[in-house]
Amino acid sequence: MKLEEQLNDIKKMITTTKQLLVDHPSDEMLLYMLAQDEELYALSIAKAYSRIMPSFDNAEDVIKAIYSEKHSSAVDPFHIADFLGIKIKKDFHLSEGIGKCDFYEDQIIITYKPSNHFRDKFTIAHELGHVFLHFSKGLSLEFTDYESVVDEPIIANNTSYKPVISAARLSAQTDDFEKEQEANNFAGELLVPRFILDKILNKLPSGKAINASLLKDLFQVSRPVIRISLVDYGLLNSGKVLDDINIQNRGW
Ligand SMILES: [Zn+2]
Repeated sequence: MKLEEQLNDIKKMITTTKQLLVDHPSDEMLLYMLAQDEELYALSIAKAYSRIMPSFDNAEDVIKAIYSEKHSSAVDPFHIADFLGIKIKKDFHLSEGIGKCDFYEDQIIITYKPSNHFRDKFTIAHELGHVFLHFSKGLSLEFTDYESVVDEPIIANNTSYKPVISAARLSAQTDDFEKEQEANNFAGELLVPRFILDKILNKLPSGKAINASLLKDLFQVSRPVIRISLVDYGLLNSGKVLDDINIQNRGW
């Protein structure tokens, strides 16, 4: 049996068991079956995945493996996907969401709805996060990502800027919230890698700071992406990085 069919079968069993559980929520046998099937499902994915893809736990390892330890400029998620044989397809008419990732027996396909280049880079980086963090661990087989409404950041002062990117790309399913956060974090760490940032900052003469807008250009990312990464790393207005990015004028 093809892996895809096998996985579909397991999926069906899981769905059926879940339906039965609606009427019998504490049936021990059903709960046991569900746990067994979910484990089998995860293991099947992980097994198939390991045949075609190296395993990475974080964005830094991906960059070092695909570029080099010495890489010190922008990271292109399209290049990473290409290098690993992950197929990327454009779909201007993607009916659901702005990006999705499908796993087949011998191929991973990321489909995205083209927007501007920065946005596209983030979408692909996010999907790669799902590939490395979730497929490889047998946690999920497919993701569809929706572009939900992003709240404007609340700015009390420069240092209390609230990161909003993570809220921008939530899955439709709330139980996937954690995975979406992980994929977003991965995307940020891939596009603005801390170890490269540190190399740049370490070269600064003492007492000198670099403009956030320059880092934005170096890493070739959008303003929200550089800003949120710098906030997450605790580097914005740290004395090393000056916040010269106008976030009133948001957008990708
Ligand atoms: Zn996602």
